[in-house]
Amino acid sequence: MLVPHNYLPFEFKENDKIINDWKKLIRSSEFTLGTYVDRFENAFAKFIGTKYCISTNSGTDALILCLKSLGIKKDDEIITVSNTFYATAGAIVACGAIPVFVDCDSRYQIDEKLIEKAITKKTKVIMPVHWGGSSPNMQAISKLAKKRKIHIIEDTCMGIGAKLENKRAGTFGICSAYSMHPLKSLNVMGDGGMITTNNKTIANWMYKYRNHGMINRNNIEFWGVNMRLQPLQAVVALHNLKKINSVIKKRNLNAKILDIGLCELNPRIILPTRNKNNIETYALYMILVEKRDQLLKYLNQNRIEAKIHYPKPLHLQNASKIFNYKKGDFPISEMQANKLITIPVHQFLSKKQIHFTIKKIKDFYKK
Ligand SMILES: *Cc1c(COP(=O)(O)O)cnc(C)c1O
Repeated sequence: MLVPHNYLPFEFKENDKIINDWKKLIRSSEFTLGTYVDRFENAFAKFIGTKYCISTNSGTDALILCLKSLGIKKDDEIITVSNTFYATAGAIVACGAIPVFVDCDSRYQIDEKLIEKAITKKTKVIMPVHWGGSSPNMQAISKLAKKRKIHIIEDTCMGIGAKLENKRAGTFGICSAYSMHPLKSLNVMGDGGMITTNNKTIANWMYKYRNHGMINRNNIEFWGVNMRLQPLQAVVALHNLKKINSVIKKRNLNAKILDIGLCELNPRIILPTRNKNNIETYALYMILVEKRDQLLKYLNQNRIEAKIHYPKPLHLQNASKIFNYKKGDFPISEMQANKLITIPVHQFLSKKQIHFTIKKIKDFYKK
């Protein structure tokens, strides 16, 4: 039985509604910003519960725009976590700033207890990541940031729709960046991203900066760039936003079945503790396992498309050589990089496929 990682062929099987709206868009020839982009921005701001949404060409652009809006520049330090996707640190470096990594905890989230030690005179922003669709302790991080008068920018690229005690992921910092890459829980047919904020000043700056700094066709207020969301993708985003709650619900159901089936294998398999007051998006279902590389191979041979996110933490990447990190600096991230496995959990998997996955994992450890 195939248990696929990629759900896109199922997701876009029925696409008449999207194509109908595309036809309207094509007739209008509004190919830069315009009606559909406005509509999506309003709908997404409403979904998150913020005053403003500024859409962009990608999640990476959204992160860069957040940093630039706060005036982040050369040699500023931004605190983030060592086990995130490349783009979190890449966006910081793109602004000339320095990513200062902090280790993660047993839930794969930035360890809030280690943040204060990483703060220096140069620290301008704390950038926590809602990694895998779970959330760090944003309440504690918010308290610390307030006390030390440092801004928070949330990387909520994987956390669209997550909640912490009824408060949406993405509403804890001054602004938050999201991605609609095809494999995120709110996705488009290519790249897309957005920012939410309640701050009018930075929102207005962002609307202009992402569009060449233009006030109107003949006047620019400052030098900007083109980071605009494609209207074709705004159409897809509007359709998928209607489904996001059911996507998250189905992923949570699948994750629950996996949790119940796999917890018997403790201590060979360690599940992360689940915070009952939070809603996770299960962008990734990750567990720590014994004999990880053999298990991965066994599952892939049985057509269960397990993956690793990721086998090498950011501080040990070649790209990090410029920062003087070394092996042993972030022991939890390093241990997890050797033991983590990501199991398919997406909304198009049947109960049968989930139970087949559990059975194959059990078979592996019986051998
Ligand atoms: C996907 C992702 C990004 C980048 O988003 P893109 O839309 O691919 O540019 C940034 N941070 C995290 C944590 C992500 O998962």
